[in-house]
Amino acid sequence: MQKTIQTIAVVGGGASGLAAAISAAQYSGEDTRIVVLERLDRVGKKLLATGNGRCNLENIAAEKPSYYFTQNTKALSNMLQQISVQDVLQFFKGCGLLYRQEEEGRIYPSCNQAAVVLDLLRINAQAKGVEEWCNWEVDKIHPQKKGFLLLSSEGESLFVQKIILACGGMAAPKLGGSQKGYELAKALGHTVLPVYPCLTGLCCKGEQFATLKGVRAECGVSLWQGKKQIVSLEGEVQFNEYGVSGYPIMQFSGHWNPKAKMELCFDLVPQLQQHQLESILHQRRKNKMFGQESFLLGLVHKKLATYHLRHQKINWASPTPQEVSELAQRLKYWVLPINGTPGWDTAQVTGGGVPLQEVQPHSFGSVIHKGLYITGELLDVAGQCGGFNLHWAFSSGILAGRDAAQSLQK
Ligand SMILES: Cc1cc2nc3c(=O)[nH]c(=O)nc-3n(C[C@H](O)[C@H](O)[C@H](O)COP(=O)(O)OP(=O)(O)OC[C@H]3O[C@@H](n4cnc5c(N)ncnc54)[C@H](O)[C@@H]3O)c2cc1C
Repeated sequence: MQKTIQTIAVVGGGASGLAAAISAAQYSGEDTRIVVLERLDRVGKKLLATGNGRCNLENIAAEKPSYYFTQNTKALSNMLQQISVQDVLQFFKGCGLLYRQEEEGRIYPSCNQAAVVLDLLRINAQAKGVEEWCNWEVDKIHPQKKGFLLLSSEGESLFVQKIILACGGMAAPKLGGSQKGYELAKALGHTVLPVYPCLTGLCCKGEQFATLKGVRAECGVSLWQGKKQIVSLEGEVQFNEYGVSGYPIMQFSGHWNPKAKMELCFDLVPQLQQHQLESILHQRRKNKMFGQESFLLGLVHKKLATYHLRHQKINWASPTPQEVSELAQRLKYWVLPINGTPGWDTAQVTGGGVPLQEVQPHSFGSVIHKGLYITGELLDVAGQCGGFNLHWAFSSGILAGRDAAQSLQK
């Protein structure tokens, strides 16, 4: 007797979808067909851009919930324990990838090429019989008695037994970010918590950014809500036309709350304590070699120096100790109010999304529809920089793929 073929559809050929498809194929019987449906003309476009083209695919600390933003930390902790970093690395080893660890626990492919990570995922999927259907945007999903009917935006249809929804979030629309996944999840009865751009720059009020555009400076930066310091970090800050970006700022962006009054405080001379800086400035005050133009030379970036010297009231004919102390104070505590983010184009991930309590922790199976799984960025999880987002995408995909395949065989 001929066996009935059953189909698992993976909606979205990104990091999570590709891992899900390979994992499903690993646990499937011969009578299971796995199809990756991708709305763009090729799979893995975003993956190619990760880690500046090097793909920071994992982090040894990725099982710790403190590296992620979510509204449900308890559920996240539970989910992160279902699959380890080593399991994900083993998955990549199985795909043929050599990798190595760099600073702060970040893991990269040994060849330093995101393109190789994508190629390996694709050839492993192909070898296991996974089908790739590009330019196939899932527009509607109709739950049926024994599965789901998928309709594409071009009017095609596909009946499947299982769906893994791995559509990603809204970040980086040029690389595939869209709201389609949220619409599909909502139409199927899921909730979607408000989404916001994460791992992005922050816009600051002030006319100064036109003159500071292009400056990169090592700074201490802290994020404040009223009198409460939320977080502080040191690292390279980039100044641009809308405000600031760079590693510390991106890490802060998940804490930014549009409803609260929040400020950034910059320490432009993090190597020196305030009294040390003051002492140097007081010596310069008495040294004729240093005038208005050169007063901060060697201490801070030239453009930042020009900006601050212009805005600090100093009688250059004979600067007073008080004026010099105030300048030191300004360089150590430069406060700028935040008034937004530059939006989805520059964001690396999406905060918010489908609440974690709406999927099973061990399988990422929907608690609303049997046979539906939701993985990756579509869920209410946004990791910090350092490989946490790809860990989340890959690990949730691996678990969902395995469960979808195994449940078809029961
Ligand atoms: C520039 C950049 C650099 C990054 N670098 C890193 C890094 O080094 N390390 C790290 O951990 N994270 C990094 N990230 C974040 C990481 O890439 C994402 O968190 C991760 O790709 C999310 O995986 P995903 O599969 O959930 O979504 P995606 O990778 O976004 O994949 C979703 C896919 O679904 C497709 N799709 C959407 N809707 C539909 C539909 N209705 N029908 C069919 N297809 C659909 C999309 O076109 C897309 O291809 C970076 C992000 C960006 C933008």
